[in-house]
Amino acid sequence: MVDVLVVGAGPVGLCAALWAKRLGLSHLVLERGTVAETVYRFPREMVFFSEARNLEIGGHPLVSQGPKPTRREALLYYQRVAEREGINVRTYTEVVGIAGQEGGFGVLARSRKGEEVFSARYVVVATGYFANPNRLGVPGEELPHVFHRYEEAAPFFGRKVAVVGGSNSAVEAALDLYRGGAQVVLVHRGARVRPSVKYWLLPDFENRVKEGRIGAVMEARVKAITPEGLWLSRPGGEEFLEVDFVLVLIGYRAEDRLLKEAGVAYEGEKPWLSPEWETSVPGLFAVGSCAYGPDTRSVFIENGREHAERALRAIARRLNPLTREAPPRYP
Ligand SMILES: Cc1cc2nc3c(=O)[nH]c(=O)nc-3n(C[C@H](O)[C@H](O)[C@H](O)COP(=O)(O)OP(=O)(O)OC[C@H]3O[C@@H](n4cnc5c(N)ncnc54)[C@H](O)[C@@H]3O)c2cc1C
Repeated sequence: MVDVLVVGAGPVGLCAALWAKRLGLSHLVLERGTVAETVYRFPREMVFFSEARNLEIGGHPLVSQGPKPTRREALLYYQRVAEREGINVRTYTEVVGIAGQEGGFGVLARSRKGEEVFSARYVVVATGYFANPNRLGVPGEELPHVFHRYEEAAPFFGRKVAVVGGSNSAVEAALDLYRGGAQVVLVHRGARVRPSVKYWLLPDFENRVKEGRIGAVMEARVKAITPEGLWLSRPGGEEFLEVDFVLVLIGYRAEDRLLKEAGVAYEGEKPWLSPEWETSVPGLFAVGSCAYGPDTRSVFIENGREHAERALRAIARRLNPLTREAPPRYP
């Protein structure tokens, strides 16, 4: 039995494992993909909006060529930190269920070798949100030319693409697609894209729209997607926009299925959490963006890594009989 089992080897899960080690606790991380799977799946040419120092974990310096790290720099960084810190991580192992309570959890995991149950005194869930993109909820959304994630422009070269959304991901994808030789139209329900779009992208996008190089259909709600294009509801009535591909980039929701199935209490759409990030199930902690329901914009690597440290310090105090104290509990 390990002291702490961490679900997910993203930046926050790695941070939790790293603190477990530093606090003298045995640990195991189970990860469905590779280490830092989410960063691996980011758009190929993405540059973080955070400065390098705000993405660092465990005090390891993240060196980048520019002021903001690229996807590749961050990906190599997290994988190297896991290696350097000797994080005990099993990749390509998906957790499918968590049962038990403080001192005795059973964690059911699945890999290509089959199913296995792991025992742990404490469980820290750090499953993020990236695998859970928001959906429009309209007919046609599951058609094969509709995507909910963007990787790179090459497959769309020379074709007409609608990007649905109005924040960073949509604007960044629209610019990248335009530069990659696609004909791009951004479709957004607001009158303008969000003012919070990365400061170096916003003028670039607005100027390309002014020049007519990128199309923009604002105040438009998607009603349905067909193999030929999109039905839009606009202030003047319904319109049809003919396109070859549709990219729906409208944010994410926490990946919290494991928490719900473990019987964790919710307050609205978010799990109840103690100041130490413990859920209502004693011994089960939720750190990083998986604990934020639909509010994924308010958690970053910067604050997620702090949740992980605080949770692990609480666990270490409870495992140490000399410092044991009564934890704050769900009412
Ligand atoms: C395009 C984009 C740009 C961003 N830019 C920034 C930025 O500049 N700065 C910043 O601070 N944040 C940024 N973010 C947000 C940042 O990516 C997240 O806050 C961060 O990844 C959260 O880390 P995490 O470890 O909680 O989750 P993740 O990094 O998503 O890690 C979760 C891990 O859990 C694994 N997992 C999920 N379910 C299971 C399961 N059942 N079993 C086993 N493993 C599982 C996943 O495979 C994944 O590896 C950006 C996000 C996006 C989408």
